[in-house]
Amino acid sequence: MKQSYPPPEGVGGGQTHDSHTLSHSDLLLLLRATGEEKTLLFERSAAVKEKHVGNRVYFRGLIEFSNICQKNCLYCGIRKENETVRRYNLTDDEILNAARFAADNKYASLVLQSGEVETGNFTRRVANLLTRIHRETGNQLRITLSCGEQDKETYKMWHDCGAHRYLLRIESSNPDLYVKLHPSDGMHLYRRRRECLDALQETGYQVGTGVMIGLPFQTLEDLTNDLLFMQQFNIDMVGMGPYLEHSDTPLYAYRDQLLPLEERFQLTLKMIACLRILMPDINIAATTALQSIDKLGREKAIKIGANVIMPNITPGKYRDDYLLYQNKPCTDENAEDCKTCLEARIALAENEIAYGEWGDSKHFGERDKGRGTKD
Ligand code: SF4
Repeated sequence: MKQSYPPPEGVGGGQTHDSHTLSHSDLLLLLRATGEEKTLLFERSAAVKEKHVGNRVYFRGLIEFSNICQKNCLYCGIRKENETVRRYNLTDDEILNAARFAADNKYASLVLQSGEVETGNFTRRVANLLTRIHRETGNQLRITLSCGEQDKETYKMWHDCGAHRYLLRIESSNPDLYVKLHPSDGMHLYRRRRECLDALQETGYQVGTGVMIGLPFQTLEDLTNDLLFMQQFNIDMVGMGPYLEHSDTPLYAYRDQLLPLEERFQLTLKMIACLRILMPDINIAATTALQSIDKLGREKAIKIGANVIMPNITPGKYRDDYLLYQNKPCTDENAEDCKTCLEARIALAENEIAYGEWGDSKHFGERDKGRGTKD
């Protein structure tokens, strides 16, 4: 007969504790877990998910509205200096059509994602899009932005225009590793990333962050600290996935140092499971990068703790041009194909799609009560 968690000796708080109780050394042990210990970890995280957020999956229709970026992150396929990328910018009408698709299909939430551009034109365009999307879909949609580092006034303006959530990955909470992943040109500062996360939280967003798992130079110690960083920062949502190398990036030179793909995949599942136990009521995305390694990758993540999926509703003709990493799945599908495929996959994971529900982060609700404000 199987035991209840925790498998490794002395790890966690046993059956009576399901959150907050994992120390640095507990987490390190869990990230190393294999075989029966790993199975028990996943059973535990699945039970925590069911208890705190239910076996339900929320959709966020993803619109990758532009791949134009002013930055040069060393791991990213759409970095500014990659001249092999065909740059695109969806028209406002294309974005609005995609938003209507999300509303008509009861996705209830949208993610507007782009490369990073800090200009007055870009700021105003996003503000205008937010206003139009809300107006033209009858305020049915929650909107998440993922448009990188901006100044606090910009975050505030977008929040005032109806952006409820913001995703800004820290990528690694280790400042030394962060430096190795970014050019030293004054435009890619760890300090600024942290300040932006603070500014987002202060502005009143539901704040999401995330890390890449299996990077060159990264240790299990780093990943353990990433989990504790997310807990200490009090994040509301997370999107973390395996690092997948792109041949047109400088970091590709270190591909020989990488863990095999299957190990990066398993490590990502363990990170999700640990975070679900540490932060039972946050929203955790099953990222597309998982599916690049394992066809059932997202379903596996849902089974053990994730509760958000971002179906891509970017018009199909642009999808091949938003490749942060190579072998990205589903780039040849349209929004309708993507929906049908996900319905089957989520049923396989014995979860239910929460159509028509915003699925705000419960953690944010609790945090917000603490601040004495309302969203
Ligand atoms: S990770 Fe983001 S900011 Fe960095 S180059 Fe890619 S799109 Fe631009």
